[in-house]
Amino acid sequence: MIRKDEATQHKRSEWLQLILWLKETFPVNEPVSIRTIPLKNELQGSAYFNPETRRFEIKISKELPYVFRIFVLIHEWAHVITWHQAYARCMKKRQMESFHSKEWGIAYAKLYRFSLQWNYGRSGNHD
Ligand SMILES: [Zn+2]
Repeated sequence: MIRKDEATQHKRSEWLQLILWLKETFPVNEPVSIRTIPLKNELQGSAYFNPETRRFEIKISKELPYVFRIFVLIHEWAHVITWHQAYARCMKKRQMESFHSKEWGIAYAKLYRFSLQWNYGRSGNHD
C-alpha cells in the first residue's frame, strides 16, 4: 500500500519526467512554461505564444485527473511543435479553425506514438 502523499510525490516526479522527455524528444527553440492551474469555462488546456516574453505558455486544468492531464499536455505540446517556427513570425493572423490543422494532427500522432513506446516517460513495463 502506498500512502497518499507518497503517491502524490510519485506522480509529481512522473509529471516532471514527462515534461523533460517532451523537451528532449520534441525540442522547441523557444522556452516553454507549463502550469497546472484552475481554468475557466471547463477548458482542459491551452497553448499560447506570448510575443512579449517570447515563451510558449501551456496551461493544464487542475481539475483533471492525472491521466487526462497527460493527454492534454501531449495535445498542447503538439500545438507548440507545430507552431514554434510559424508562430514566431505572426501569431495574430492565425484563424481558430487552423488550430487543429493537418500539421497539428501529424505532430499529435507522432507524439502519441512515441509516448506509448516510452510509456509516457515512465520507466519499466507498460501498464
Ligand atoms: Zn488544441
